[in-house]
Amino acid sequence: MKRLITFFALLNFISCQTKKMNNSASFDTFKGNFIEALWEVYPEWANSEGYHKYDSVLVISNQQQRDKELAFCKIYLDSLHGFDLKSLPESNQIDYHLIENQLLSTQWSINEFKSYQWNPATYNVGGAFASLLIEKYAPLDQRLHSLNVKLTNVPEYYKTAEANINRPTIVHTSLAIDQNKGSIGLFEKDLVDSLAHSHLSDAEKQEIQTRAKAAVAAIKAYVAWLENDVKPKLNDETARSFRIGKELYDKKFAFDLQSGYKPEEIYEKAMKRKDELHTEMAKLATQLWPKYFGDKRMPENQLALIRKVLDTISTQHVQRDSFQAAVEKQLPELIAFINKKNIVYIDPSKPLVVRQTPDYEAGVSVASIDAPGPYDKNANTYYNVGSLKDMTPEQAESFLREYNKYTMQIINMHEAIPGHYTQLVYSNQSPSLIKTIFQNGNMVEGWAVYCERMMLEEGYGNNSPELWLMYYKWHLRSVCNTLLDYGLQVKNLSETDAMHLMVDEGFQEKTEATGKLKRAELSQVQLCSYFTGFSEIYALRDEMKQKEGSKFNLKAFHEKFLSYGSAPVKYIRELITRRKE
Ligand code: ZN
Ligand code: ZN
Repeated sequence: MKRLITFFALLNFISCQTKKMNNSASFDTFKGNFIEALWEVYPEWANSEGYHKYDSVLVISNQQQRDKELAFCKIYLDSLHGFDLKSLPESNQIDYHLIENQLLSTQWSINEFKSYQWNPATYNVGGAFASLLIEKYAPLDQRLHSLNVKLTNVPEYYKTAEANINRPTIVHTSLAIDQNKGSIGLFEKDLVDSLAHSHLSDAEKQEIQTRAKAAVAAIKAYVAWLENDVKPKLNDETARSFRIGKELYDKKFAFDLQSGYKPEEIYEKAMKRKDELHTEMAKLATQLWPKYFGDKRMPENQLALIRKVLDTISTQHVQRDSFQAAVEKQLPELIAFINKKNIVYIDPSKPLVVRQTPDYEAGVSVASIDAPGPYDKNANTYYNVGSLKDMTPEQAESFLREYNKYTMQIINMHEAIPGHYTQLVYSNQSPSLIKTIFQNGNMVEGWAVYCERMMLEEGYGNNSPELWLMYYKWHLRSVCNTLLDYGLQVKNLSETDAMHLMVDEGFQEKTEATGKLKRAELSQVQLCSYFTGFSEIYALRDEMKQKEGSKFNLKAFHEKFLSYGSAPVKYIRELITRRKE
């Protein structure tokens, strides 16, 4: 009953605001109202952006919630379309596109994509509660008060999850089991530790503990239901295929990437790039051969030659217990190089904390950046590094070869400096909240992939052929990500052919390739963003170089490009090129 009241209250709120906006208010006012309303509909998203007004709310994914989301979309699309796009200031034109894309994408997702039915991993309270426990945006006691209220909805949350699920995929069912198991520790350990450090009354501590027990029971019941009732019955006929097919893929690509390219185009481009990279890599491998193999006869097969040289260089890696320390040590070296070469301004006041990937986020990627949202710019930015602690010696060796001395430098450029970390610091300084919130993954990943190449072009590593060869291998991974994603989701690529692509043609270690295959089956489109975004940014830089000739300044270009926030490259291009004319 309480939820119903909230729903109608929201509708009233929105329609009052709408009337006012159409009469007098500017687009900026509209955006402000839109964001406020957005946070009420999506409290956990708000939390992850650093907006904490609705922290105590745990959204139940029922029909009522979906109706609320659809109503929200309709009202705000109507209001949005009341503005004349062409007469808006240019930065607001991008925001207009971003808001429209977001709302249309939500409608499509609820009405057509429907992952709330087939993806049981949609349901996991781990992340929502972890941020209340770990992020120190407010005093612990205050965060625990919110957590206390939020806990009350956990049993209903999982009951609704069970009711929603219909014909799930096998891979998402397995993921849901693993990730929800990973969340249990938060309540049984992290929460207990936090309570011990808090100054709550004994009564409230007791209340939280009781509710946490019920939450754990709900998680365990969901996991047990998936493990015992759902998963055993899934097979090729009863389960939904993880392949979403061309129709859904084309739409998801358009909504998620907002690229200037069509999926088929970028797939063809990646095919061509793969061959070009093999040619470049063979040249370097031939050059390096005598250094490592002396007079030994070179393999005649191009891929075999490259593989042999890569394998030899890959043995130059750190020991398993010093992996994280090695990552930490390299960051100041990157900053020094960037400053010396005038590549981009790095704000020294924003700390980057290297940590082991938390359990509740484990299993999807090897390294990642957790940056503060636009509302808490001073919170820590974390550099999550995958843990080797559960690996067998063979797995650890494979992992360490993949992230060898050379590749580790490239991944640090990608994830940290001047890649994701630097870009996100700029993004949070951008005056547009809309661009920060609806960040364009294509631009974000494209920037990180672009940075790898740009750093080497600027002379990082003194043009070492080993580093370039490893870079090409790493870049080939972005290319293969595209081929893998589109291949699996649209072109019916088999697991065997996918492994052949990554291991034989992409020179990836088997552990790595197996992990990537899993990720490619669990996600769609995202893996294309690396190569798509890179291609767009690189092309834009070339265009600007041509246009500005000797006046072109790399640092100025980077800072200008980043100043628009995480916006689609095609819109940034529009603004940058228009301004120069
Ligand atoms: Zn080794
Ligand atoms: Zn990335």
